[in-house]
Amino acid sequence: MSLTEHLDLRGGRVCWPEADDSLPAADPLPRHAVDVAIVGAGVMGAMLAERLTAAGRTVALLDRRPPARGSTAASTALVMWAADTPLTALTETWGPAEAQRRWRRVHAAVLELAARVATLGLDCRWASRPELYLAGDLLDAHGLRREAAARQAAGLPSAFLEADLVASRFGLPSRAALVSGDAFEVDPVALTQGLLAAAAKRGATLTWPADVTDIVTTAAGVRLTTAKGATLDAGQAIIATGYEAARQYLPAAFRLGSSFAIATAPGTDPAWRDEALIWEAADPYLYARGTADGRIIVGGADEDFADPARRDAMLDAKRAVLERRGAEMLGIGELRADCAWAATFGSSPDGLPAIGRVQGQENLWLAAGFGGNGVTFASLGASLIAAALAGAPDPDEACFSPYRFG
Ligand SMILES: Cc1cc2nc3c(=O)[nH]c(=O)nc-3n(C[C@H](O)[C@H](O)[C@H](O)COP(=O)(O)OP(=O)(O)OC[C@H]3O[C@@H](n4cnc5c(N)ncnc54)[C@H](O)[C@@H]3O)c2cc1C
Repeated sequence: MSLTEHLDLRGGRVCWPEADDSLPAADPLPRHAVDVAIVGAGVMGAMLAERLTAAGRTVALLDRRPPARGSTAASTALVMWAADTPLTALTETWGPAEAQRRWRRVHAAVLELAARVATLGLDCRWASRPELYLAGDLLDAHGLRREAAARQAAGLPSAFLEADLVASRFGLPSRAALVSGDAFEVDPVALTQGLLAAAAKRGATLTWPADVTDIVTTAAGVRLTTAKGATLDAGQAIIATGYEAARQYLPAAFRLGSSFAIATAPGTDPAWRDEALIWEAADPYLYARGTADGRIIVGGADEDFADPARRDAMLDAKRAVLERRGAEMLGIGELRADCAWAATFGSSPDGLPAIGRVQGQENLWLAAGFGGNGVTFASLGASLIAAALAGAPDPDEACFSPYRFG
């Protein structure tokens, strides 16, 4: 019996430094009960631990891997509020008020994260960048104008740019786009480690490798059991296990696929102006960003299967596709990958995550950042769950319920 599936989450080589000597020491599993046990020490678990220890709770994190070595290390870490499903499309499903409400809450989560990074003084290459959403087969120039109007009606900082203005302002091929504010880039591994360190300073423990195989309800809350038979009692447990989802709790609407990314050698960037975060209104879409050490990252070319062997077997072919299509999108002569990686990726029908209490369980929570904005969704998850545990539920919490699709 296993709480979560074991997945080979990524193949190839990512561009973030992952040296073993940067790993925090592993703590023994606490002998005493804690307020909150968090299963998973990726960006979601780290964000939760930081927020909950700041609220004065005792927290224990458990991970079967070293911290920040799951999907978080595969992330290209564009920190955005605009979701994969456009606001105009979400409006057709939920109506304008409900669609706007969801997008505004995600936007607020980005700003909360920016404030948190600043307050904690995290050294994680956090930088504010304009975000460019280029016309594609999902939204052409006309569709982007409507999308801009919908975002502006929601009070969100986006504006439509004609193709020639995109070219002159950003030094990119001529293509209509939305330009948006309140977007950022970050090193996701450094961010996660910084958050874990902040939580550890306030007494959080981080136990790895510790594979949680079972969580049961007790009179005082929950009891977690590991593969080695050790147990931990907690008032609450949060399942922050990423794409290794607890399928007995997470509905099938949250699906797995595969995604691919390349990064050029350090010193290649900047190749366009203002170091904008770039993505396409297309399905599947391509996206690009620079890094603090001057790499160009290009990602996308997604597949809707999740089999790791099949995924990794495609890496060489996908590297060539990303080099060619990335160079076209950016209008540069050649892109040559210094590293390339393939990874499991989770999506949802509305591009939004699964955050909330497990149905029928008082003390068990899901925090699954499915959708393109996993880093932002970690900030959102931490806010929603911290508010609920403080007895003051966020007014928008139902928008992100894992069970919203029925
Ligand atoms: C190629 C790619 C590009 C991406 N680009 C972006 C981007 O540009 N912007 C963005 O915001 N998001 C992006 N994402 C998404 C984002 O990276 C993820 O949503 C996020 O990193 C997931 O974090 P997590 O903490 O939920 O999962 P993980 O980092 O995978 O952490 C979960 C942890 O849970 C542990 N675990 C699982 N089961 C158990 C168990 N039973 N017991 C103990 N431990 C367990 C795992 O070992 C793992 O370490 C991208 C993802 C990929 C793959």
